[in-house]
Amino acid sequence: MSEGDRPAGARSPVEEWDRQDYAGVPDAFQRLWTPHRMVYIGGGGKPASDAEHHCPFCDVPKRSDADGLIVARGELVFAVLNLYPYNPGHLMVLPYRHIADYTDLTGAEAAEFVRFTQQAMATLRVVADPGGFNLGINQGAVGGAGIAAHLHQHVVPRWGGDMNFMPVIGQTRVLPQLLADARRMLADAWPG
Ligand SMILES: [Zn+2]
Repeated sequence: MSEGDRPAGARSPVEEWDRQDYAGVPDAFQRLWTPHRMVYIGGGGKPASDAEHHCPFCDVPKRSDADGLIVARGELVFAVLNLYPYNPGHLMVLPYRHIADYTDLTGAEAAEFVRFTQQAMATLRVVADPGGFNLGINQGAVGGAGIAAHLHQHVVPRWGGDMNFMPVIGQTRVLPQLLADARRMLADAWPG
């Protein structure tokens, strides 16, 4: 759902992938991602305004885990799959509270925010064995945040060459199903 967390004009990794041929599975990658990106173009998940009741990140926890792609719910924060992933398994950790800035986190929120980030990394290591991660928070529209009004930390698993685990699950299925599978795998592996 955070479509635009990158500098204006910069290509996303997905767009980079679209420009490349991958040995063995060139077409699968494009088919994998494109329908997924279409799912929300027409509808409800897009950021509409700064009003809290229109904030997609505030709406997510009101859905079921499966519908909201929620991997884990804490007391003060939750972890959710990104609808516009830079990489498969791209998670976000967010406070339930509609706050924009990292400095707005209370001590308790910050503690659980950090713990969830660590658990997200641990879970992704169990499920998908990434070689590394990018962790990041884009602050404000100028900082590249797609939905600047609601703080969110990206947890992006990285692989050498960014080969990934989703094609292992099944190249031929449409991506919403892959996201559902990924959510279930990660939720099952989440500690506790
Ligand atoms: Zn919000």
